[in-house]
Amino acid sequence: MSDLLARHRAVMPNWVALYYNEPIEIVGGKGNRVVDESGKSYLDFFAGILTNMIGYDVPEVREAVERQLATGVVHTSTVYLLRGQVELAEKIARLSGIKDAKVFFTNSGTEANETALLMATYARKSDQVLAMRQSYHGRSFGAISVTSNRAWKNNSLSPLNVHFLHGADRHLTQFRGMSDADYIAACVDDLRHVLATSVASDVAALIAEPIQGVGGFTMAPDGLFAAYKEVLDEQGILLISDEVQTGWGRTGSAFFGIQNHGVTPDMMTFAKGLGNGFAVGGVVARGDLMDNLHAVGLATFGGNPISMAAANATLDYVLDHDLQANAARTGTLIIDGLHEAAARLPIVGDVRGKGLMFAVELVDPATGAPSPALAARFMEETKKAGLLAGKGGLHGNVLRMAPPLTLTTDEAAEGLGIIVNAL
Ligand code: PLP
Repeated sequence: MSDLLARHRAVMPNWVALYYNEPIEIVGGKGNRVVDESGKSYLDFFAGILTNMIGYDVPEVREAVERQLATGVVHTSTVYLLRGQVELAEKIARLSGIKDAKVFFTNSGTEANETALLMATYARKSDQVLAMRQSYHGRSFGAISVTSNRAWKNNSLSPLNVHFLHGADRHLTQFRGMSDADYIAACVDDLRHVLATSVASDVAALIAEPIQGVGGFTMAPDGLFAAYKEVLDEQGILLISDEVQTGWGRTGSAFFGIQNHGVTPDMMTFAKGLGNGFAVGGVVARGDLMDNLHAVGLATFGGNPISMAAANATLDYVLDHDLQANAARTGTLIIDGLHEAAARLPIVGDVRGKGLMFAVELVDPATGAPSPALAARFMEETKKAGLLAGKGGLHGNVLRMAPPLTLTTDEAAEGLGIIVNAL
């Protein structure tokens, strides 16, 4: 065990997640690569943890933050007018496609979801909420309530009354093997059944990830969210799309994940990549819902000047360089390559993804059972070969990868080579 790991274990909680048995200390970064304390370089196929959306040490972001620092104004996000907040909110409201949208900034995805849930429950005067099985929305009281799995909830009590729906979990259920059309019909029946029998009053909202992140990059079939939305609209139930992992063009085919489904939600929450490593999150919502909150949505540091400088520069970079198109191009190259390799690799149970958000599910070749041990081994092998990845899913056997949107075609080919070799 390294000296730093021993010190970490001594003074930090034992539940702090470290991906590797021998975790590395990252001491530098440039472009889409990071360097550890021994000087070894890695292609970062997890973009930090989807935080470094446009890579490391990006001059445009560094200079924007340095310009803000040079003003001497490093303070709160509330009470005074902040030009950076207004400019960023204008861009996000426009990109959201939500009518008369307004934006509120937080420090994280968890706070963003907490705010969205407060807005929805307040607007609808109801503590009844719908969420998806295998969901992950954070670990504050509200967010943990709508997070589905016991292992991710720390068995916490829920302040909300939450009913979990089927969606991206077909492969884990009795619906496995059903056609999309039949599955969607079964899910809608289930939703109607829940609304008729399981809730105590009107329901405030459904919160859902367009592609489930911690759940293992699992996807609901095309058409499911549109079918759910029809039922929700009948009862005025709000739709909150958690775009913490799927926003900013990462899926290649849309700027926000839910837009892949042709559905406009009432609210979207975002965080992770927007500040390119600086802490920023937020909610974009229908103006009438946003204006409905009074003293609730206050965060001393949410939307602070440094975060806003970083986020404006990052978002401008994504738009100016059309990184959504790059995600589509490089993502297709990798996903096609993984499908091709999977055909001759019995340890691969599934390959899935969209744009630069893709996953490989590892199974025991003899039994087909999920294999977290193989996933752990993959992580060590790719680390040795100079590539960082992520893992997750219900059984911990899903390799999750989400490189920076700035990934080049050469880096996509290099990463694919390392992954296939390790598999
Ligand atoms: N929502 C989703 C979909 C996430 O993946 C995460 C974090 O992984 C969160 C919310 C929580 O965001 P944060 O860790 O910034 O609080």
